[in-house]
Amino acid sequence: MKILITFVVTALLLVPTSLHADASLPIFDAHVHYSEDAWSRYDTTAILGLFTQANVTRALVSSTPDDGTLRLYKADAERIVPILRPYRSRADMASWYRDPAVLAYVEQRLAAGYYRGIGEFHLFDAREVETSQVRRLTELAAQRGIILHVHSDAAPISALYAVNPGLQILWAHAGMDASPALIGEMLDRYPTLLTELSLRASDIAPAGQLAPVWRELLLRHTDRFMIGTDTWASSRWPEYVELVREHRQWLVQLPRAAAQQIAYENAARHFASVSHRPRPQ
Ligand SMILES: [Zn+2]
Repeated sequence: MKILITFVVTALLLVPTSLHADASLPIFDAHVHYSEDAWSRYDTTAILGLFTQANVTRALVSSTPDDGTLRLYKADAERIVPILRPYRSRADMASWYRDPAVLAYVEQRLAAGYYRGIGEFHLFDAREVETSQVRRLTELAAQRGIILHVHSDAAPISALYAVNPGLQILWAHAGMDASPALIGEMLDRYPTLLTELSLRASDIAPAGQLAPVWRELLLRHTDRFMIGTDTWASSRWPEYVELVREHRQWLVQLPRAAAQQIAYENAARHFASVSHRPRPQ
């Protein structure tokens, strides 16, 4: 009898996880790259097919070079939210923040009018924010009311807000190594800071179980989090559906309304569809 009770209790405990990994929750993936190394292996139809398979109904996309983003946007302008990566090639990653040619490229591309943000870009040190190029980037973002998608630890984020407290920043990977306590402090301090959780599923839910410290954080700042997968290399695409499923596994351990906000609504509110936005020919 005792064994039976143990079995039933265990089974009941397991139900929410498996049930909710339920694919019915639409996802807005706020961290997608469609970069050159993926183009020959996955055409835009294949990428959009993976989104459909994973029930990803919208996606924030950037790429190195930018043409991949535009190809996807052209293929499905309702689903794809394009942002402009300041990397013409991978080599720009190390020097973009001090390169006048990159800034000129960004200004010229932004003029097309369809980008909803600039990024994802990397800042490895708060001092990198001091260059005239990064200053100008913050002005462009503020003027256009678009986000900066920033991969960095906390210090460059604070440096950007010191330049302009009104910036809208999407903090990639919630700072990657930042603890839940630090993420909470940053969200408390900067009311326009948003964050996405790519590459963090195993921190949030070790062995699939939502960690209490993350639950508390996600429920305290429910309106500031988004889901992301980060397809930074072409090897991520074969895993794409599984990457989304990993997020579903912890999402469903939250109250349904909170899960819906983080899965889709926060990003959808922020990147509301704008049907009159220009599109590439
Ligand atoms: Zn990143």
